[in-house]
Amino acid sequence: MPITIAIDGFSSCGKSTLAKDLAASMGYVYVDSGAMYRAVTLHFLRMDIDINNIDRVNEALADLRLDFRNEGTHQRVLLNGQIVEKELRSMAVNKLVSPVATLSNVRAELVRQQQHIGRDGGIVMDGRDIGTVVFPNAELKLFVTAETQERVRRRVEELKSLGTPTPSKEVEVNLTERDRIDSTREDSPLRKAEGVVVIDNTNLSREEQADMCLALAKLRA
Ligand code: C5P
Repeated sequence: MPITIAIDGFSSCGKSTLAKDLAASMGYVYVDSGAMYRAVTLHFLRMDIDINNIDRVNEALADLRLDFRNEGTHQRVLLNGQIVEKELRSMAVNKLVSPVATLSNVRAELVRQQQHIGRDGGIVMDGRDIGTVVFPNAELKLFVTAETQERVRRRVEELKSLGTPTPSKEVEVNLTERDRIDSTREDSPLRKAEGVVVIDNTNLSREEQADMCLALAKLRA
């Protein structure tokens, strides 16, 4: 039976790397739920939406279409038919995404889409509320952490590889602020789900982390 694997954790902890590795090894679909919140944020930025204006937020949501295209382990997100991966990782989106993710209307719509995508199992999804809200009955729930300096280093590298080098202080402030908002918001705050396995990958290689979690997944499949 294909199982559901839910991965949550703080920003830039390597959740998506782990999720992609597990999906590839298990032959499952990988869904990056953070990319969905980022796509909504980009959509709001493009439409110049004031996120405090709930009517405008609802109008913009009605005009939103998200599609995914999985190419090997690489996932492309399409916003109203257009590939937007690079823009999803920009600092403009980094700065607005957590405030957008506090909006209950946005969360309700994305959770609905996520549950639909994962209705038959055989899926690895990463985010902040996957084990607590989206798939509370997932067979395997992981909570990934890493030390702040290591997470900053990883995000700085990512921004550099996107051609937008950003000072590490700015990256650190953004990560810490997003974690604060994500952990303290009223609707679906980042929490350790019941029955979760905590993985601190600060000193683990990508392969060590993947092997450890793959063994857990196989025990539950
Ligand atoms: O995972 P990533 O860092 O790309 O997520 C971007 C932001 O989207 C998070 O900081 C959080 O505010 C929001 N998010 C969320 N719930 C999820 C996934 C992401 O609130 N399931």
